[in-house]
Amino acid sequence: KGPDPDLAAIEERMSSVKHKVLVLSGKGGVGKSTFAAQLSFALAGQDKQVGLLDIDICGPSIPKMLGLEGQEIHQSNLGWSPVYVEDNLGVMSIGFMLPDPDEAVIWRGPRKNGLIKQFVKDVDWGDLDYLVVDAPPGTSDEHISIMQYLKATNVDGAIIVTTPQEVSLIDVRKEINFCKKVGIRVLGVVENMSELRQQIEMFYGGAGGAEKMCRQMRVPFLGRVPLDPQLGKAADEGRSCFEDAKCVASSTALKSIIKRV
Ligand code: ADP
Repeated sequence: KGPDPDLAAIEERMSSVKHKVLVLSGKGGVGKSTFAAQLSFALAGQDKQVGLLDIDICGPSIPKMLGLEGQEIHQSNLGWSPVYVEDNLGVMSIGFMLPDPDEAVIWRGPRKNGLIKQFVKDVDWGDLDYLVVDAPPGTSDEHISIMQYLKATNVDGAIIVTTPQEVSLIDVRKEINFCKKVGIRVLGVVENMSELRQQIEMFYGGAGGAEKMCRQMRVPFLGRVPLDPQLGKAADEGRSCFEDAKCVASSTALKSIIKRV
């Protein structure tokens, strides 16, 4: 068996993307998609051309978090067209392909792999400054596929989102080791929901667990995002938190993290 001819097509397609960043987490529900969505809003707000690719095939939440529920993908002779939030922010997700958002996607590895390959080969992103990839939690089929397809195309690295609890950090350590194994740089770790604004420590052990783990694992710590109901609300409503005066706590934290990436 010779080399996969699709890899050359992927490389060609990705050659018009300047930066590729993966957003990962060890566990679900820690705010990975929220971070990926707000990162994309922030970059688009800086007049960058941004693509957000959701490869969480079994639980796509990106369409909702970008305010794009019910939208559909169109095809052109250049490939699949992303759904646009703004002229400079395009989104691709399996969520756009499901007839009903409550439909369960029960796919085995090879089928997921096939769709991810199409997402990186056949989507007509045009020229992008950033492609942000929101991956499912853990280190499953989707991760192996995306790493395999993007690796040859110079991925900048991965940002890992966690909460401060040890149960989440255990899985983050695995995620970091997975990145090391497949040769993806860890750009850093974000500690989300680390505290309430009143500085009440959210979980046993308190804020700061991720920073300590980063020192042990020798990866950069990017910062903390407080638990902020207004951020949860912005995510639910598919909005950027940066234009919301009530979101100051979380948007200030997110801004300083994004500057560091
Ligand atoms: P994941 O992608 O890790 O599964 P989500 O991004 O879907 O997690 O977040 C899970 C829930 O927590 C969402 O309802 C989201 O709005 C909320 N959320 C995430 N981060 C915060 C935060 N810092 N403050 C308040 N709510 C948050």
